[in-house]
Amino acid sequence: MKTNILFILAFTLFGNFGVIPTDKTELIWGNTGHRAIGEIAASHLSKSVKRKISELLDGQSLAMVSTFGDDIKSDNAFRKYATWHYVNLNDDETYQTSKKNPKGDLVTAIAKCKEVLLDKNSTKADKVFYLKMLVHFIGDLHQPMHVGRLSDKGGNDFKVQWFYNNSNMHRVWDSEMINSFNMTYSELSRNTDKLSRAQIKELQKGSVIDWVNESKVLAQKIYASAKKDENLRYRYMYDHFATVRSQLQKGGIRLAKVLTEVLR
Ligand SMILES: [Zn+2]
Repeated sequence: MKTNILFILAFTLFGNFGVIPTDKTELIWGNTGHRAIGEIAASHLSKSVKRKISELLDGQSLAMVSTFGDDIKSDNAFRKYATWHYVNLNDDETYQTSKKNPKGDLVTAIAKCKEVLLDKNSTKADKVFYLKMLVHFIGDLHQPMHVGRLSDKGGNDFKVQWFYNNSNMHRVWDSEMINSFNMTYSELSRNTDKLSRAQIKELQKGSVIDWVNESKVLAQKIYASAKKDENLRYRYMYDHFATVRSQLQKGGIRLAKVLTEVLR
């Protein structure tokens, strides 16, 4: 009896952890990934852009607002943004050749955020909302499974195990590996690879569509990296965590570029 009560209590307290709190078609970096990208971006901004961001966000950090796009999903008033977090591309498609989602996708979402931030007539409230969304979407864009196949909802239906627990390829790439690595977002953002100015410039080249197509190529490699129902463990981390770290760093560096473009 006592054990039962303890179990129920433990389940009530911890049972929801590790469950992605979104509908099945929704795709997210875990909070840690989004925050690391926000924090890395902050370290690549000029003082004047930082000041403008701080004014808009009333002093909140980019890391703090980076999960806003996922936080609002539970509020029905924001339903229309559900498809804005991803874009599905099949193996033989690029963004240019793909059939577009009439409800919007990552590319149209980022364009909308930039448009509002660049418009002198936008209200402060709109600027704040779309700035928070922009920080989130540039993060999503760098989680390759947000540019995965439509047929398995960006890897959500590609079931695998992660250290003997049920998971899926989308979740392995948005949170399982990051959580297993067990660094906080600020530790991850302080321990990025050393890059030269030229390397940073190179990463900031290209358009949002180029970056989407790049993520899709990575997604294809990820699809080939495991078999359905495979039990992924240390070896998978060893082979792939470097890619996760590089995507977080790239996401941060590119977010800094986009923020500079719209807020300079
Ligand atoms: Zn998202």
